Amino acid sequence: MAVSLLVRGCGRVSRAFRPRGWSQLHTVYQSAELPETYQMLRQTCRDFAQKELIPVAGQLDKEHCFPGAQIKKMGALGLLAMAVPEEFNGAGLDYLAYAIALEEISRGCASTGVIMSVNNSLYLGPILSFGSQEQKQKWISPFTSGDKIGCFALSEPGNGSDAGAASTTAQLDGDSWVLNGTKAWITNSWEASAAVVFATSSKSLKHKGITAFLVPMPTPGLSLGKKEDKMGIRASSTANLIFEDCRIPKDNVLGGTGTGFKIAMQTLDMGRIGIAAQALGIAQAALDCAVDYAEKRMAFGSPLTKLQSIQFKLADMALALESARLLTWRAAMLKDNQKPFSKEAAMAKLAASEAATQIAHQAIQILGGMGYVTEMPAERHYRDARITEIYEGTSEIQRLVIAGHLLKSYRS
Ligand SMILES: Cc1cc2nc3c(=O)[nH]c(=O)nc-3n(C[C@H](O)[C@H](O)[C@H](O)COP(=O)(O)OP(=O)(O)OC[C@H]3O[C@@H](n4cnc5c(N)ncnc54)[C@H](O)[C@@H]3O)c2cc1C
Repeated sequence: MAVSLLVRGCGRVSRAFRPRGWSQLHTVYQSAELPETYQMLRQTCRDFAQKELIPVAGQLDKEHCFPGAQIKKMGALGLLAMAVPEEFNGAGLDYLAYAIALEEISRGCASTGVIMSVNNSLYLGPILSFGSQEQKQKWISPFTSGDKIGCFALSEPGNGSDAGAASTTAQLDGDSWVLNGTKAWITNSWEASAAVVFATSSKSLKHKGITAFLVPMPTPGLSLGKKEDKMGIRASSTANLIFEDCRIPKDNVLGGTGTGFKIAMQTLDMGRIGIAAQALGIAQAALDCAVDYAEKRMAFGSPLTKLQSIQFKLADMALALESARLLTWRAAMLKDNQKPFSKEAAMAKLAASEAATQIAHQAIQILGGMGYVTEMPAERHYRDARITEIYEGTSEIQRLVIAGHLLKSYRS
């Protein structure tokens, strides 16, 4: 069954609404406006978030409840495999479309945003880029409709930023690899039907000893740790994957032995565009909430929006948000045009995540006491925003990536 993306009132977009040369349509800064098709996509996702996510996001967060019904509907819309070609049941769109859609979904519910992001960029992304034709059929097609979702297991209890120091081991034994060790903080782990797992077959080779494996879930020798009790994005699951003599067929190696570190780094470049988009959605939701409250709240005989100090805050929030959005779209457009985008993805994630935490912080200030209680969503946006500065590379790691590219360009 081909998954199609439904655009509001217009039926299926994947064929009917894709403009000529969809992926080549946009060049960087070609146009100040989004092309019409992307605007329609944005409206479709906005409507979906308004109807299906905003009314339940607070409750999902409170109850740590996975949004299973919403994920199924998103699968039917094509939102779980946006850049996957139609031959593998994907929507056949591009990364700009993905960034736009993910922002709107995260504006409705940041937890749903990260679930979508992990399935699209971290699970499907590397299989699409490095998988064989058979692997794509087996490990992508069933993961596009929302019936199954995937996860990505790189971090470990002893190393997160220093991913090259992986201590989960992979030993070849006949026709199988045997995995032992623990992967930590794995998003979607409790609901996932498969994982892309990174393990080392030779610690002495450091990052060159790391291989990526396609692991079905559940499978003998793999158990899940407890669900982490998190500050934010509480409707998404996060847990350890514990491998104890877990046998994986040789055919499940992704991209060749010893190429795992390269696969992980390239995957994170793509993933950072997604996390930037998630941060934009959280920031936009916080700004929406602040403006709405400030328009209605009376102080000293007039609405808060009449106060210059509130206007200054709102202006700074809008500036940070729009600047970060441009960086995010630019990184996505570079990727869609097969140009280098590693530095730009790091810039986008850094700008968007810092904007999200600042904007959510200011939104609470504008709401005063009401910002501090769960009756209003501002405190949830503040909690949700914080993670975007940590996962898929902390802000410090993004700065290292940016500085590395910058210095290299000066030296050459
Ligand atoms: C909710 C959640 C979901 C996650 N989901 C996933 C997932 O699905 N898959 C996955 O593989 N991982 C996941 N992670 C892990 C996440 O990517 C790591 O937490 C992150 O990369 C940071 O690693 P760490 O926690 O080990 O911190 P550390 O690497 O120990 O860093 C601690 C501090 O030191 C700083 N630091 C470290 N090295 C340097 C350096 N060289 N220069 C400057 N500062 C440095 C960091 O910036 C940070 O401030 C998730 C984490 C969380 C909290």
